[in-house]
Amino acid sequence: MSEKYVYSFGSQATDGNATMKHLLGGKGANLAEMARIGLPVPAGFTITTAVCTYYYDHGRQYPPELTTEVAEALQKIEKEMDAQFGSTTNPLLVSCRSGARESMPGMMDTVLNIGLNDKTVEALVKQSGDARFAWDCYRRFVQMYGDVVLDMKPKTKEDIDPFEELLEKKKHAAGVKFDDELTPQQLKELVAEFKQAIKEGTGRDFPDEPMDQLWGAIGAVFGSWMNDRAVVYRRTYGIPHEWGTAVNVQAMVFGNLGQDCATGVMLTRDTNLGEKIVNGDYLINAQGEDVVAGIRETKAIQTELAKDMPQVHTQLLAEADRLEKHYKDVQDIEFTVQRDKVWLLQTRNAKRTGFAAVRTAVEMVNEGLITKEEALQPRRIPADGLAQVLQPVFDIAAKNKAEKDERLLGRGVNAGPGAATGKICFHASEAEAAYNADPSVELILVRNETTPEDIRGMKVAKGILTAQGGAASHAALVSRQMGKACVAGCSALAISYRKRTVEVDGRVLNEGDYISIDGFTGEVFEGKINTNPSEVVRVLVDKSLKPEEAQIYQLFAQLMTWADEFRTLGVRTNADQPNQAQQAIAFGAEGIGLCRTEHMFFDHIDEFRQMILAETLDQREAALAKLLPFQCDDFKGIFEAMGGRPVTIRLLDPPLHEFLPHEETAQKELAGKIGIPVEKIIQRVTELHENNPMLGHRGCRLGIVYPEITRMQARAIFEAACEVKKAGGDVHPEVMIPLAGFAAEFRDQEKIVRQTAAKVFKEQGVEVEYLVGTMVEVPRAAITAEQIAKYAEFFSFGTNDLTQTCLGISRDDYAGFINEYRERDIVPADPFQTIDQDGVGRLMQLGVEGGQKARPDIKLGICGEHGGDPASVMFCHKVGLNYVSCSPLRVPVARLAAAQAAVAEKTAK
Ligand code: PEP
Ligand code: MG
Repeated sequence: MSEKYVYSFGSQATDGNATMKHLLGGKGANLAEMARIGLPVPAGFTITTAVCTYYYDHGRQYPPELTTEVAEALQKIEKEMDAQFGSTTNPLLVSCRSGARESMPGMMDTVLNIGLNDKTVEALVKQSGDARFAWDCYRRFVQMYGDVVLDMKPKTKEDIDPFEELLEKKKHAAGVKFDDELTPQQLKELVAEFKQAIKEGTGRDFPDEPMDQLWGAIGAVFGSWMNDRAVVYRRTYGIPHEWGTAVNVQAMVFGNLGQDCATGVMLTRDTNLGEKIVNGDYLINAQGEDVVAGIRETKAIQTELAKDMPQVHTQLLAEADRLEKHYKDVQDIEFTVQRDKVWLLQTRNAKRTGFAAVRTAVEMVNEGLITKEEALQPRRIPADGLAQVLQPVFDIAAKNKAEKDERLLGRGVNAGPGAATGKICFHASEAEAAYNADPSVELILVRNETTPEDIRGMKVAKGILTAQGGAASHAALVSRQMGKACVAGCSALAISYRKRTVEVDGRVLNEGDYISIDGFTGEVFEGKINTNPSEVVRVLVDKSLKPEEAQIYQLFAQLMTWADEFRTLGVRTNADQPNQAQQAIAFGAEGIGLCRTEHMFFDHIDEFRQMILAETLDQREAALAKLLPFQCDDFKGIFEAMGGRPVTIRLLDPPLHEFLPHEETAQKELAGKIGIPVEKIIQRVTELHENNPMLGHRGCRLGIVYPEITRMQARAIFEAACEVKKAGGDVHPEVMIPLAGFAAEFRDQEKIVRQTAAKVFKEQGVEVEYLVGTMVEVPRAAITAEQIAKYAEFFSFGTNDLTQTCLGISRDDYAGFINEYRERDIVPADPFQTIDQDGVGRLMQLGVEGGQKARPDIKLGICGEHGGDPASVMFCHKVGLNYVSCSPLRVPVARLAAAQAAVAEKTAK
């Protein structure tokens, strides 16, 4: 049998269900599921994602069978809705919407009211008894069709939407302010003017034939899968381009037929802080897009709907409860009320902040709705999202002062938690450019409202502030998902893009001035306000808050206990200072996976430079003797802070030139010779400078040429260890040789370490258990792992260097082209953030296999930056490492990701 491309849904017969997201997309699968369990869903059909793939593989052609399948499915809608598509007496109108496997809010196109033309509109006038409504639907349809299907949407900030221009003109001529004040006759004129604009703009007539309109809309929706904002969104959230979108065609229901009609978005719990309360926005007598677009001031379901429409309110609460229990997750539901009848148009698992994710997952377990394993699923709490509970809040004193100084500008909706302060920037493209010029720039994107076009600017801003829109507006949804602070709908702000100012009661702020937003409370302040660490950080690290007074901390702690129950991968930290070690332990680190000893030398740089500049062995040893007590003290501090947990100490690694000052004299000479300012030369040199890709005299190559350095470091480690042990402490040093690629390199250094250990133990009269191992940072080490593991007791994958040596891309100089690589999808992610599994990952597998062959109980870890990246942590679990090591603040993220990997493995079995 040939492949089925179209799946119907409705109260009579439904082909799909919730498990078919791959084929039907999230929206299609959930519409089918809702219809299946008897919820009021307008009848419709879904064209599968397979058609999207076919469409792009065949030069934008459809499979030949599609025409018949669509026609048959349309007949089913006609039958169920008791209306005919194109009928001039009883017309069926349909919507056409995208729906990918993962929801991509607002990124693709939608066309509503398909089926209207000069004849069917007259039938709609009669049926609805409301000429204004019917002509307004038609006017909106022609405009949407022109924008979306015929590509007349403005392309730049300067372009003017021809339809908006005509609409404004018409309102002006009629002497009215709002669209809904236009008469049917004026709307009728507008339709004709819009059609004329289409003819002039595209050279084509607006299609009057409903079937042509439908196919045009289907093509536009499939085409929107590849529009720029959808592509950027997929890249940001790791959604493969190959998935494609489904297209949903569904009977129209109307929320704009009068005061007994409404449209809205309902959430079964708060998606900002996670409270268990049904909430959302609605508008009486409006179409769906009006709520999301933030054009009209919305009403709150939780406070106003019960008064406006009591029966509808009761029914919606019941549907919300049913859907949440059915899906066992917070639902984001779109509904329309047509003449007091509730219709559900969509349900999906709600996007939420990290706070809400933690709270709802933990509370749903406590309510008995889901299991602990389910709570740990990445789709409920993306491990990265956990970083939000470690998010900054305003410094209380600084905020109080701002209030006292009367710097509070206004209040909007607290749409994305977190405090942010930065310079005002009005345009997303300018925010992006400023960020590219200086990634440390602090910006707040300030706009009347955001649209999907702004996504690139939102990504680089510290926070988002809008003057319009509510908790379900685009700005709110996207900020929450990105984990950005956001205040939406702060109506006190009068923004002028032209003057580049924000005005509030006569106070004028210019572009580039500092502004501060509190995404927890919705407050907006003039000027800069310093931010402070999160509640979790205050309980665990600063100890400035008691656990029992910190609700977020308590939820976080409960979740972390579950994560630890399931994970098999250890989590260590990269730290080289006792305070960093203490912070990491507070976050749950089980050891140090990488102590970079060179960082310690920067505190004693003069002695270290003496060592580097020494010309004889004697001079070098004299300088090293001065460094020995400092190193010894540093190690003691670390051992004590780690309280018996293993500590992997890497011997000196960077090339020595990094510790020396850099000269400008030669640059000055050249400047005089060719007669240009020295600053110009310095600037050019800086621009052109490429760092040594660190393949020179570094790593164990230093210790091999200067064995006295290794000897001094080993002595410092073991003297510190013996002293701590003699004082009653427990110590487990693991000495790590960097950058070895030959077993012989390792053996050379190992010998010095072991000989020094034996000597120190004898002098101190005490012995300490220790390991000697190596980093795997060059392909040769991974390939010859079996040979090296005969001697090395542990491997730690240094994936920073292993990535640069495997890919031949310098870790220091790749910023100049990596964005271009990402834009063109040459790499699926930044390989220095997420392990390149096919390349570097393959080397890691070889390393693991070789290591375990020679030494079955070999300890295996990772200490490159990837150790704190959730996708990489999952990969480390899969290849069988014993632990990951990451920066202290990433430790909770790694613990959760490790648990998610273990649960996923268990579920797959
Ligand atoms: C590595 O290369 O992955 C590593 C941890 O070492 P460093 O970043 O210090 O080179
Ligand atoms: Mg390295």
